[in-house]
Amino acid sequence: MSNLDSIVHYIGGRRVDNTHSPRYADVFNPALGVPVARVALGTSDDLQAAVAAATAAFPSWAAKPPLARARVLFKYLQLMQQHADEFAALMTREHGKTFADAKAEVARGIEIVEFATGIPQLLKGELTEQVARGIDAWSVRQPLGVVAGITPFNFPTMVPMWMFPVALACGNTFVLKPSERDPSPSLLHAELLKQAGLPDGVFNVVQGDKVVVDALLDHRDVQAISFVGSTPIAEYVYTRGSARGKRVQALGGAKNHMVVMPDADMKMATDALIGAAFGAAGERCMAISVAVAVGGAADKLVEDLAARVRSLKIKDGMAADAEMGPVITAAAKERIERLIGKGVEEGAALLIDGRNYKVPEHQRGFFVGGTLFDHVTPDMTIYKEEIFGPVLCVVRVPDVSAAVDLINAHEYGNGVAVFTRDGGVAHEFVRQIQVGMVGVNVPLPVPMAFGSFGGWKRSMFGDHHIYGPEGVRFYTRHKAVMQRWPDTASSGVEFAFPQHA
Ligand code: NAD
Repeated sequence: MSNLDSIVHYIGGRRVDNTHSPRYADVFNPALGVPVARVALGTSDDLQAAVAAATAAFPSWAAKPPLARARVLFKYLQLMQQHADEFAALMTREHGKTFADAKAEVARGIEIVEFATGIPQLLKGELTEQVARGIDAWSVRQPLGVVAGITPFNFPTMVPMWMFPVALACGNTFVLKPSERDPSPSLLHAELLKQAGLPDGVFNVVQGDKVVVDALLDHRDVQAISFVGSTPIAEYVYTRGSARGKRVQALGGAKNHMVVMPDADMKMATDALIGAAFGAAGERCMAISVAVAVGGAADKLVEDLAARVRSLKIKDGMAADAEMGPVITAAAKERIERLIGKGVEEGAALLIDGRNYKVPEHQRGFFVGGTLFDHVTPDMTIYKEEIFGPVLCVVRVPDVSAAVDLINAHEYGNGVAVFTRDGGVAHEFVRQIQVGMVGVNVPLPVPMAFGSFGGWKRSMFGDHHIYGPEGVRFYTRHKAVMQRWPDTASSGVEFAFPQHA
């Protein structure tokens, strides 16, 4: 029996431990390299209990006026603001990202709640009067029922917030299956929602792994699934969930390129690359992992990057001056270091090697140093695969059309950026590039809460991007209504299909 605190499920408005399963997993502090808690790994029974609670809570939650639901979210918004540091500290402890980065993550999550509080406006339908004599037609959007979110380790506070504020505002009830690597923020969300006045059963959390995910995918009463994680699992969730008749949006992995044109502001481009490649140790789905240096941009860019990568401040994320923390697990560190080795074997020029990086006061921490490769080519494993670590690859191309062809040929299409001073180049780049989110002199073009987020190609499976207006569409069904009244329309039997003119 472990002495560590247990992170358990949250079902029907209270914390509950595993019912039958003896399975728990260690949750590590990656900077220290030691377990700091253990998380319950639920079973199908735990998932059934959560879906039953959400099913029971649905009718009265869906019947509440949208403004009443928005008012709960207003209170939750205030509580999130008050507890921002607590969320951030939990994330630095279990994920390893710097405290400043964790706080920024909370702020981006809060923006989705701000958006969701506008739900009375967002749910408005359309009405056409007199579509035929005495007949009016209108449309409404209604909630789906019980919906679920399955989330990755890399944004344990924000990514669930891409989902549940909008889903709840629309009148659905929710079951969250957080990442088992950093599960604590999920329970803090549940408790703050309860304090904000959310009725029991409207928001539930089941901790666990594939066992819970499979039970969710197969459950008849779960109407829709939002998934964010790696591409193989996104594809699996999409295929299995939609085969069972569910609506599924499944956001997957990425390999984001940043094109640097010779006329770019080099200081701006280098700053952008350093932040976007090494922030959060490269563990962001919008991280830039490939710099595409066009023509004469390459030599100066590589020289400037190398100097900056060498001086990255890598330490425990709680250190005030930390720029980058550890990666999530020992296994992730091993995988990243193996891929760096593969890059060398396959002939890329390793300019800065982050393998075997040690932070003196945390010898057991899962740290990988900033790594820079030059002369990477599209056939190399380090170019094709998502490394999800602090590794930046420079690919050299002769001109912008070669850059566009390179990026369009990649299997992923999440985010991309171009750095240039030429409006014409930027215009054509934006038009031709087959990627879901595009930045012009903006390295991480993450849409705001009132936009919607999603990639193309194998970075996303499903039709609706996440949060924002697309989120409202995903979490509601359209209903078309036609109405007439006896005193405004003539009656009589019609055997022919009605003609309205
Ligand atoms: P992951 O795919 O390993 O895990 C995501 C979720 O799926 C977790 O809740 C996990 O418990 C569950 N899961 C894992 N293996 C499973 C299996 N075999 N069957 C069923 N469920 C399973 O992803 P991760 O390592 O937690 O997160 C990193 C990945 O997420 C990266 O690929 C990153 O690009 C991606 N990501 C994408 C976006 C986006 O918006 N496109 C955002 C954040 C992260």
